Amino acid sequence: MKGKETPTAVDRREFLRGGARVAAALAVGGLAGVIAGRGKTPELVWQINPDKCQQCGRCATECVLAPSAVKCVHAYDVCGYCKLCGGYHQPGARVQDTAAENKLCPTDAIVRTFVEDPYYEYRIVEERCNACGKCVKGCASFGNSSLYLQVRHDRCVNCNECAIARRCPAQAFVRVPADHPYLLRGDQGKKKPRGAKET
Ligand code: SF4
Ligand code: SF4
Ligand code: SF4
Repeated sequence: MKGKETPTAVDRREFLRGGARVAAALAVGGLAGVIAGRGKTPELVWQINPDKCQQCGRCATECVLAPSAVKCVHAYDVCGYCKLCGGYHQPGARVQDTAAENKLCPTDAIVRTFVEDPYYEYRIVEERCNACGKCVKGCASFGNSSLYLQVRHDRCVNCNECAIARRCPAQAFVRVPADHPYLLRGDQGKKKPRGAKET
């Protein structure tokens, strides 16, 4: 789309942003419900403090589960919707396109969708994410840190002594209340602990 933004174009971008936020919040709210639905509800669960995580790669390799219970998540309201995305493109990418050689993610778990020039939306396909943290590091280096790692509680078996926590070099693995099991960025992080339905 070229030239001055039309109201329709802006509406479309805002719609996409809002829709993405709602979808992500619903997913997290749903996962919180998975914990509550288990036989014996734990009081505390493991989570990653995204402000402490150094993206060392151990979340991908140290979990007792394969693939890891840790996944990349996206705070859409913090994202700049950049054409050149530090989390999506290789640092030396000359062309800001979707060619395989220009992408950073080793498992092709990030899908880029054109919104309008020069904005693009980036969505994580969780089933493909191996928690390597490369996109998180790239986003932190060149972007707004809207990509970050979280323990997904529909996957985690809540080991008494988390294998990742033992190896984490940054003390980023912490125990959090089971009724507030995510440490989220952006608007999602401002929600009240029991506000999962407030999407
Ligand atoms: S082990 Fe710790 S520092 Fe390394 S990626 Fe996981 S949370 Fe981040
Ligand atoms: S770069 Fe690594 S952490 Fe990011 S989406 Fe791909 S597999 Fe997941
Ligand atoms: S508690 Fe267990 S299953 Fe959950 S992230 Fe840690 S090692 Fe993986």
